[in-house]
Amino acid sequence: MTERWTQSPKVAVVGGGLAGLAAGSALAESGFRVTLFERRAYLGGRASSYQHPGTGEVVDNCQHVLLGCCTNLIEFYRRIGVDDKIRWYDCMTFLEPGGRASVIKPSALPAPLHTAPAFLRASCLTLPDKLSIAAGLAALTPIAPRDTGESFLKWLRRHGQTERAIERFWKTILVSALNEEIDLISIPYAAQVMRESFLQSRTAGRMGVPTVPLTELYNRAGDYMTARGGEVRFRAAAESFRAEFADVKLLLPGGEESFDFVILAVPFDVLSRMLPDTTAAEPLRQTLSRFETSPITGIHMWFDRQITELDHAVLLDRTIQWMFHKSKLLVTAGARADNSYIELVVSSSKTLVEKSRQEIIDLALAELREFFPGARAANLVKSTVIKEVHATYSPRPGIESHRPSPETVWPRIFLAGDWTATGWPATMEGAVRSGYAAAQCVARVAGRRDAAFLVPDLPPSGFMRLFG
Ligand SMILES: Cc1cc2nc3c(=O)[nH]c(=O)nc-3n(C[C@H](O)[C@H](O)[C@H](O)COP(=O)(O)OP(=O)(O)OC[C@H]3O[C@@H](n4cnc5c(N)ncnc54)[C@H](O)[C@@H]3O)c2cc1C
Repeated sequence: MTERWTQSPKVAVVGGGLAGLAAGSALAESGFRVTLFERRAYLGGRASSYQHPGTGEVVDNCQHVLLGCCTNLIEFYRRIGVDDKIRWYDCMTFLEPGGRASVIKPSALPAPLHTAPAFLRASCLTLPDKLSIAAGLAALTPIAPRDTGESFLKWLRRHGQTERAIERFWKTILVSALNEEIDLISIPYAAQVMRESFLQSRTAGRMGVPTVPLTELYNRAGDYMTARGGEVRFRAAAESFRAEFADVKLLLPGGEESFDFVILAVPFDVLSRMLPDTTAAEPLRQTLSRFETSPITGIHMWFDRQITELDHAVLLDRTIQWMFHKSKLLVTAGARADNSYIELVVSSSKTLVEKSRQEIIDLALAELREFFPGARAANLVKSTVIKEVHATYSPRPGIESHRPSPETVWPRIFLAGDWTATGWPATMEGAVRSGYAAAQCVARVAGRRDAAFLVPDLPPSGFMRLFG
């Protein structure tokens, strides 16, 4: 497309999740006239917070964490000025029922050996478990394996993993990171998580936790866009679009509006409903029908006293998988000795979807008391359960080949979202990458040939440099 622009092109971004916010921020900064349409009354999409009517508290839809390897997300935080709202941790505490702790933290050894001393000391695993894990990680170190259609659980069994190593290490890490059962996860996704979290470098594996509610973080992207001439329209759900030669017509509740370019940054099921009823749209409609989703449940509990000194912990062998001590993590909560706000997270929470709120609270409270003796005497003041039934797409064998790139059959329309072909699983990093990639396409089609918004991965360190 070769066009001469008398004024900067008008771009509509549909969807105010991380993908849309990243795309809109990058384009607004580059001088495009950006209008972002968000169906809801707030920004952040699947990473957002709101005042919960039952408890009166501001809660995140679920705790979100990032890793040091999330280079695009970290750059996005710097761009919109919220990078100081992330607290970084080098340590992960694995708790067994009964409360025995194993702390995994990096040593001064070069990667990929930096966490080896902590693993050797970990009491939640036996020596045969540790040897099998070392052999499994060694098999993943030199090259990223291909998707052969095999599940990662089968791969683990082929690589001689003990049952406890599978349960307490591989499953614990992967179900949280990929939100799916390990018998349904494809090998490359699992390998990528393990390489970035434990092998690549000390920096790549650090865990970042927001210190403010999620919407406070992502509202800043809206401010960033409007400060650069953009517009954010809330409660504005786009219904469909019509691609024409000279522009794109976006169908909105109030009528049609035309734009030079449109980025559709909505979940795949929403996109499927927005597609026009034309033969040109059929291949994309078919592609979108391949995706399945998996749920995540967050259980929020307020106690009348401190139940633990820990900021967060991985919980082994039970339904509840992570504990986040929100009253210590959030600067807005103000940690006090006479209360504590705890969020428990269950990824791939298929067994909880049909359970009632009270059943989930009872189960979670009983399990929490097994890990934290301090919770046994504490009174639960209030609580709530947030089920995200379609939290993320399921990273099954074969799905990678169906993830679409930003370009579509319509030269002025581009796709973004954590489910598009980013090379990353469904994460905030994947969403930001997709937004930057779509923005890069728009800028290049509009004649900015050198536009580059995506930032490089972290380089491997130590011996991992040998493997590139
Ligand atoms: C419970 C839960 C826990 C998670 N935990 C983590 C974690 O710890 N770390 C991590 O990295 N990732 C995590 N994720 C994944 C992460 O939240 C997502 O990958 C990411 O937020 C997706 O961003 P997105 O912009 O692609 O999509 P979305 O966030 O879904 O954004 C799409 C936006 O489009 C809007 N929209 C929909 N239809 C329309 C329409 N017709 N017109 C206008 N707007 C519309 C929606 O309201 C939404 O705001 C978690 C997700 C969930 C649900």
